[in-house]
Amino acid sequence: MLMSFSAVLLWSLSLHFLNESLVQEKTRLYRNNWQTQLDQLQLAQKLWLQQRFHEVEIWVQKNTDSQQRRHFINQYYQHYPRLEFIRVVQPGVNVGEPVSDIPDCLILPDTQPDAETPPIKICLFNEQLMMALTADIGTSNPQKLLILMKYFSFVDDFEKLTGRHFYQEPGTAVSPEFIETKVLSEQYQAIFEINQDALSVGRLTLSIPVESFLSIWMLQARWVIPLWLLLSLVVYLSLYRALIQPLLTITQRMKKMVLTRRPGNSYDRQFLTPGLVLLHKYFMYLTYLTKHDHLTGLNNRAIFDERLQQAVMEGKRSGRKYALVLVDINHFYKVNKEFGNYVGDGLLKQLAKRLSNDLRESDSLARLEKDNFALLLEFRDEEVVTSLVEKLHQSLSKTYTVYGRKINIGVSIGVAIYPDHALDMEELELKGNEALLKAHRGDWPVVFIQQSSVQTDYSGLSLIQSLRLALDNNDFKLVYQPVMDLKNHNTSYFEALLRWKQPKEHIQSIEKTIALAEKNQLIKPLSHWIIETACLQLKKMEDSPVKIAINLSMIDFHDEGLPQRISKILQRYGVAPGKFMIEITEGQFMQEPDLVISILKRLSEMGISLSIDDFGTGQASLTYLKKLPVEKLKIDQSFIKNMVDDNEDSTIVEATIKLAHTLCIEVVAEGVESAEIHALLKQMGCDYVQGYYISRPLDKNLIQDWMRAKNRLSGTELSHSGD
Ligand code: C2E
Ligand code: MG
Ligand code: MG
Repeated sequence: MLMSFSAVLLWSLSLHFLNESLVQEKTRLYRNNWQTQLDQLQLAQKLWLQQRFHEVEIWVQKNTDSQQRRHFINQYYQHYPRLEFIRVVQPGVNVGEPVSDIPDCLILPDTQPDAETPPIKICLFNEQLMMALTADIGTSNPQKLLILMKYFSFVDDFEKLTGRHFYQEPGTAVSPEFIETKVLSEQYQAIFEINQDALSVGRLTLSIPVESFLSIWMLQARWVIPLWLLLSLVVYLSLYRALIQPLLTITQRMKKMVLTRRPGNSYDRQFLTPGLVLLHKYFMYLTYLTKHDHLTGLNNRAIFDERLQQAVMEGKRSGRKYALVLVDINHFYKVNKEFGNYVGDGLLKQLAKRLSNDLRESDSLARLEKDNFALLLEFRDEEVVTSLVEKLHQSLSKTYTVYGRKINIGVSIGVAIYPDHALDMEELELKGNEALLKAHRGDWPVVFIQQSSVQTDYSGLSLIQSLRLALDNNDFKLVYQPVMDLKNHNTSYFEALLRWKQPKEHIQSIEKTIALAEKNQLIKPLSHWIIETACLQLKKMEDSPVKIAINLSMIDFHDEGLPQRISKILQRYGVAPGKFMIEITEGQFMQEPDLVISILKRLSEMGISLSIDDFGTGQASLTYLKKLPVEKLKIDQSFIKNMVDDNEDSTIVEATIKLAHTLCIEVVAEGVESAEIHALLKQMGCDYVQGYYISRPLDKNLIQDWMRAKNRLSGTELSHSGD
């Protein structure tokens, strides 16, 4: 309809312009025609004039009576005062002044002078000439009178004068004896008054027959409009099949897709929007969907892959490093099953928010599918990535409140680094997924993939890289140092101490390694590995009464999940909590005392005995100890080593032993290197001793041997080297 309307409008406009040019052309033709008509008119006028003058001439010739002549001229003159009389003078006639001197006198060109017929001169009339003329008329000289009139009044004047209608006799036969006259061109032109569509000549008006545009339009519209309608219908039908129908189908499908979204979203309102605008909005929304995840609003896999590809290219060019971090919720299906998909979606949204909160602007985040998220982090210092990932893990593991329900989830994180672990996008993704799988399967939720699981060459790697690689490759081991019960000289338990399997020059002392792990959020996976390895060892020796104490950092006690994790591992390996002991190494300040105390209590309740390590060097005071559920304290070796020579040290040790005993806490002395110290400690009432005097830390294979030998040589001095 719109199309036909615009077509008719267009046609009308073009018709109008065409008509305009036709009218112009017509006017031009008409004017030319008028010109011809006027020329004819002029000619007829001229002929008539000539005839008339001829008559006048004859009359003048015939009537020589001057009285009559004057009367005749006066008559003419009265009839029309504007008439101009021009005397046609025969040569030689003296009119007072030489005729040649009178301006405006012309020699009629067609009158060739010869002997009989001298040239005729005509002069424009003026007052003087009139006088002369009238005087001459009075004479008997034959004269010719020519009456010339202005053309603008020509028709009226002559009609009045002659009583003849001009048109009635346009082609009147002219006497062959007429006198030639010449009409001045200026006068000739003066009579025209040409307007747009009419021409006036005196009272004569010639007009152009003009049809109104409306009538032309009406005339043509009778067949043009139906034709247009028919044509539009044909075009519309063919367009409908080729374009409109597919577009409508697309719109319907888009509408269906949008309708399947959850209620309350802003797109619902768009159903009120009409036609093309709606189609445009659907299109924009679908374009948005091609790049974004509709649930979380994060980028989708397509865009993330694009970014990853760009990052790899950028990395190749500039040497930048990128970490691909894959995040996955453990057993997400359980959340959906328990709380429903709606809550599950809410959880994913919250998780996405937490993820984006901790990110920097340069980082990319996407939801790849379901509960699978990916991050791309650019970094210079690997420690930054480690701490960021650890921070992310902590933040994602906190309790979620979704639609009023509290939900706790476990999150696995796999990390692969470009260019350390892969040199192209596909490989990096593969490595990332491999790390994620390991995180899922293993007990530690954050896994940094390593270049190769058999690589043991740490040269060229930083300590932090070596640390991570060693963790992943199982390149650490535990050695076990026995702790002797001073009362019965039995081995009370073994303290597990961490060692690099293949120490290299650049690998620092174990104390430094632990400090670095603490600083870089790697202590938790390391401690996890230590707990697991110690439990594995206990399981291997399940028939023997051997107990093992592990060292944990204070940071480990800031993790609520620690008791549960330990319990799980103990269960997995079937180890009784009574065989498992923990030494709290106070390397770091206790940041949340309440949390730490509650965790220690939970561990103690589980039946795990706890002891404070390196007592005397940290912040733990005896009164503070009262609050902690610890069974033992270990006096730091710095006090023990010199206690034989240093009275102060021996006093501190003795006082500590006594005070601890009053608090019902047993005392262990570490760093016992000599028989004298051993004897002195026994004398002071110390409960346990540990040190090179008893044994150096032993390899795991030597524990059983140690136990057997100990049984045989109970009470004798022992000194072994297993370190
Ligand atoms: P620590 O827990 O107080 O461990 C005792 C340290 O003293 C061990 O050093 C041990 O080898 C050493 N030692 C034992 N007897 C003697 C002795 O008679 N004379 C001398 N000079 N030294 C003796 P190591 O293994 O180098 O450990 C140093 C520290 O590193 C540990 O002190 C502990 O704080 C930390 N550490 C070791 N292994 C672990 C671990 O698995 N986890 C944690 N969190 N810390 C650990
Ligand atoms: Mg210790
Ligand atoms: Mg110690």
